[in-house]
Amino acid sequence: MYNRIPKMDDILKYEKVAKIAEEFDTDYLKSVINECLNDLRGDIKNRISEQDLMEKISNLESEILNKISINKRDRLIPVVNATGTVIHTNLGRSLINKEMSESIDKILLCYSNLEYNLETGKRGLRYSNIEELITAVTGAESAMVVNNNAAAVMLVLSEFAKGKEAIISRGELIEIGGSFRIPEVMKLSGCELVEVGTTNKTHIFDYQNAITENTGVILKVHTSNYKVVGFTVGVSSDELKKVADDNNIILIEDLGSGVLVNLEEYGIAHEPTVQESIKSGIDIVTFSGDKLLGGPQAGIIIGKKEYIDRLRKNQLTRALRVDKITIKLLEEVFKVYYFEKEPAKVIPTLKMITLDENEILCRATKLSEKLNILGYSTEIMEDYSEVGGGSLPTEELKTHVVCVKDDKLSENEIDYKLRHLSYPVVGRIHEGNYILDPRTFVEGDISRIVLAFKEIKEI
Ligand SMILES: *Cc1c(COP(=O)(O)O)cnc(C)c1O
Repeated sequence: MYNRIPKMDDILKYEKVAKIAEEFDTDYLKSVINECLNDLRGDIKNRISEQDLMEKISNLESEILNKISINKRDRLIPVVNATGTVIHTNLGRSLINKEMSESIDKILLCYSNLEYNLETGKRGLRYSNIEELITAVTGAESAMVVNNNAAAVMLVLSEFAKGKEAIISRGELIEIGGSFRIPEVMKLSGCELVEVGTTNKTHIFDYQNAITENTGVILKVHTSNYKVVGFTVGVSSDELKKVADDNNIILIEDLGSGVLVNLEEYGIAHEPTVQESIKSGIDIVTFSGDKLLGGPQAGIIIGKKEYIDRLRKNQLTRALRVDKITIKLLEEVFKVYYFEKEPAKVIPTLKMITLDENEILCRATKLSEKLNILGYSTEIMEDYSEVGGGSLPTEELKTHVVCVKDDKLSENEIDYKLRHLSYPVVGRIHEGNYILDPRTFVEGDISRIVLAFKEIKEI
């Protein structure tokens, strides 16, 4: 039966194939056709009936077109985040707003002064376009930016502690997101880890006793993704600063989330701000761009000018440098913190974290009514959303969720089907319920969800 299979040259002459051949790379097109032909050979091997084979061959043309459209589908696509977790690392962490997103269009469609000094007509510094804004907002002397906070920590350690000892409290030897482990990062940057104190208690004398002539830095890590509760003792930045200064050691703080506004004003537990760290005299502070800051993925390094200048010259800096998209977005985000009266009303991440409970209830009610019309039974319940991204781990944000039930679909089937739509919806399952948390909705998400629930009933 193999001789029934059409030849490549003949297939290329099929009307629709010939038409798309004008548009597509020939090798690509041939590889798709070969894939289809191999499928047919496999069918013959598996003893397909002659009648079925002829039927498949007559569908060959549409099969080829179908494969191409599957290949051409978008891979990175928008999804509805109905989990309520605001800084959801798997779903892209922080969102930016429309104005910020429009600002990058211009920079991508045109050339820019990225590394060009318009005053002198000579080469300029990539970071000079945002340094002023970052220092103005944070109060630091100097600032620079790398790919992410993990890279920032690695760069700083490699510059100031390579071949030397880096002292860190045992209570701060954290792992973040399953891959960033402070002890590993320290090893990678070539410094020797000196652990002091215990998991729950580290005293100032623990640091003092660990200092030798080979000590390069003291590293303070904000344990952003967990809390030790009960009998705990930590050392304040002020105390640490004194010890570091007395011994001529550089004090570094990895702040993790890097919040710039006082969240207590919104009834959320105090998270140490970047400004506080700088004020307490810490020499170098690093934090993420896309956690509580609410900007693009980036690692922001701020601190004393003499140290930041040294970092700029480090060869690793070149390898960790950020793209113009990041620079432009950071400019926009820091402008909000600099100029706006209430940044938490403008930055999407902060807006979601501080969202009014009534607004959430309002969304939940609207969504639940629409799902009822589709024949789903729903219930609105009080629940808690998470900040996410390893930030504010013990903070419970009161929310109102919609629990959805269907007489035909189980919660797992609902979840599976919603994830497989062309505009997927990601919610959560809790104690046998399918749950949607409106805290993390963006404009249009209620209609998208309603449409999604309509579609999954039909398939
Ligand atoms: C999140 C976090 C990091 C890693 O930051 P990325 O920007 O994700 O690379 C490092 N340290 C702390 C304390 C963190 O919370």
